[in-house]
Amino acid sequence: MPLFSYDPTPVEAKWQKKWEETGAYRADLKKAKKPFYNLVMFPYPSGDKLHVGHWYNYAPADSFGRYMRMKGFDVFEPMGFDAFGLPAENYAIKTGVPPHVSIKQNVANMIEQLKRLGCMYDWEKTLCTTDPEYYRWTQWLFLQMFKHGLAEKRLANVNWCPKDQTVLAREQAQDGKCDRCGTEVIQKPLTQWFWKITDYAQKLVDNLDGLDWPEKTKIMQRNWIGRSEGTEVHFEVEGHNEPLKIFTTRVDTLFGCTFVVLAPDHPLVEKITPKDHWGAVHAYRQEVAMKTELQRTDLNKDKTGVHTGAYAINPATDERVPIWIADFVLAHYGTGAVFADAHDERDFVFAKKYGIPLKPTLKPVDGDASKILSLEECFSGDGVLFDSGEFNNLHSEEARKKITAWLEDEERGRNVIQFRLKDWLISRQRYWGAPIPIVYDPQGVAHPIPEKHLPWLLPTDVEFKPTGESPLRQSAEFKERTEKLFGAGWTPEYDTMDTFVCSSFYYLRYLAAGDEEKLVDPTIEKHWMPTGMYIGGPEHACMHLIYARFVMMALKDFGVVSHEEPFQRLVHQGLITNQGAKMSKSKGNTVSPDEFVDRHGADVFRMYLMFMGPFTDGGDWNDSGIKGIDRFVQRVHKIFMQPLQKGKESNKKVEQSLHVAIRRVTESLEKLQFNTAISALMECLNTIEAEGAPSSETAAAYVRLLAPLAPHLAEELWENLQNVTSSGVETFVIDASWPTYDPAMLVSDTFTIAVQVNGKLRGDVTVASSASKDEIIAAAKGIENVKKHLDGLTIKKEIYVPGKLVSFVA
Ligand SMILES: [Zn+2]
Repeated sequence: MPLFSYDPTPVEAKWQKKWEETGAYRADLKKAKKPFYNLVMFPYPSGDKLHVGHWYNYAPADSFGRYMRMKGFDVFEPMGFDAFGLPAENYAIKTGVPPHVSIKQNVANMIEQLKRLGCMYDWEKTLCTTDPEYYRWTQWLFLQMFKHGLAEKRLANVNWCPKDQTVLAREQAQDGKCDRCGTEVIQKPLTQWFWKITDYAQKLVDNLDGLDWPEKTKIMQRNWIGRSEGTEVHFEVEGHNEPLKIFTTRVDTLFGCTFVVLAPDHPLVEKITPKDHWGAVHAYRQEVAMKTELQRTDLNKDKTGVHTGAYAINPATDERVPIWIADFVLAHYGTGAVFADAHDERDFVFAKKYGIPLKPTLKPVDGDASKILSLEECFSGDGVLFDSGEFNNLHSEEARKKITAWLEDEERGRNVIQFRLKDWLISRQRYWGAPIPIVYDPQGVAHPIPEKHLPWLLPTDVEFKPTGESPLRQSAEFKERTEKLFGAGWTPEYDTMDTFVCSSFYYLRYLAAGDEEKLVDPTIEKHWMPTGMYIGGPEHACMHLIYARFVMMALKDFGVVSHEEPFQRLVHQGLITNQGAKMSKSKGNTVSPDEFVDRHGADVFRMYLMFMGPFTDGGDWNDSGIKGIDRFVQRVHKIFMQPLQKGKESNKKVEQSLHVAIRRVTESLEKLQFNTAISALMECLNTIEAEGAPSSETAAAYVRLLAPLAPHLAEELWENLQNVTSSGVETFVIDASWPTYDPAMLVSDTFTIAVQVNGKLRGDVTVASSASKDEIIAAAKGIENVKKHLDGLTIKKEIYVPGKLVSFVA
């Protein structure tokens, strides 16, 4: 194609320069009339450059933002860097290059790459979480949490990564493994800073209903927060005044409770264990301390335990029941204690192993219960009660209500709502994070650092090797600074903050670029929040996406912001794999976008990614398909760059096809189904090409449809059209209005019919409106997949439901 061959490199550079020079993507946060905040999860500037996965997040997100702008919205599309945390620190340990140096270089590299994407980023409002002018707000947020009683230092058993030598939040140790390095975490008792996210547990659940989020993500959050309604049963402990409180969702089995099990590290164990049992209990506790949570709760592993020698009183039967400790009960789940009975599989197996008596009190509504009564089988479902006093013959569900009410009357228990969510552990024993703005007086009492001393700078005279102790302890300057400001004997807090604190409010700081007085201007926040769109990976469902919601809720209660929820609409992009495998640096199978952008241009590369499949599904990387998109771009360029005729009489076929395309592209972009939007443009192009030179009106509509998907090429074609129409005003295509379709133009000369074989859908066939029944059945039989399923069979019946369905019975 020598004559019209399109070279994207100079064209893309030309438009990127024009956009930057004119400030085309600078949002006026104060004056915008129809604000639309189009947000993507910001990247981590590690030594690796942007990879295909980043592009797959950012480019389609930008296409959506462009579409919204053409629909008349003032779109704000910021980009920044989440730069504190382990990757930079580990890189520093390996190479000796301090993180603040390597981060600067990595950010510069990434900005260069990001600019080639041609996204509508407003670079005037960029941010980097490691800049002191940013992290002063991370520290300010800590101070607000402290002031409002939501930040608290306390001793707890915490998740510890032996490899990274730091504590982790529970969200970062899901399935018992460190989310950074995959090492199995261990439990360690440490005094740490927590943020009381549990104060917001109910609201975090309730508000989910009003969010336009993927249902799966909402379910994951609900499960993680784990709201359950149940009963707290108070067991008296022989020889002790304090009752043992046990939470259960199955109080209907209380009459059958024959023993009680505590977590080995339950604080009561030391108080109730008689001397003659202490040796065995102590030895067992040490044995359990060596196990990971994963080993302890693994359903396939044999459960172990010992009797403490102490007894409790079953409040329903007043019978003495032994108190055991066992590995499968965890101190930080529920009340760290369970009452055990014949209707729980785990209790059942445990009791049989240790010869503890069991007493069934529940049987199925109907069917043979003999094996349950003889304890050959465990029945753990809901059923009908027996041997349960006045509650006999009640169904489980009703019994739970009545037994709870009875316990409340007897003051032996109460109805409670419990959450699985635990407070957010935010301290880290690592160097590369925002210092916690707390100092201790010589008596060890914590004091907040006054706001005027923020940013409370991260010291630089530190070796960053992890030792299990916070590296900030080594800094002489840090200690001196503290004593100078607060007095002799005062010490700073040496832990730094979890990087998820930095990312819990960054969406507010984009709105406040350069504002040194406030976290965010309330008028701007009210106007722009919540974000109209938020796109990022589903792996953040139970970390960042819960933390950010909590922080926003807390800030609302502090009177800083006006909204409770930060992200109204959320979409997760799918995963791009390489030959079926997840791309990762360790596997060496990541794909760099750079060489493809060099060869084909950013438009082709972004459209190729969007054409791989549904955006939320992702797809498998295969660079051979990129040539198809390249050819499409060349064809578009060729047909719309030729001199076009203004007012050329419109061709009916072209016009119809164009209106179909407007409708399909619009509907697809609303749903972020970029692949079908591109298909619609391809089909329309086929019709336009077949009919010869298009009119300038056709071209103007087509180019606007193309603009969100191939922004550079569209500007180039738009410029050409402006010359043709000579409107006199030079505008960007992005500022042109989105085309609308005329429903009357959608009436088609064809229709599509589904084809079934023996009741199963095997394909569809598109036929002319005028086609006869015989013609339609013949066409249906011609479909490859239908042929395959009819092969070797005799057709007994051919059913035709006019306009809808052909069905073969064979
Ligand atoms: Zn780790």
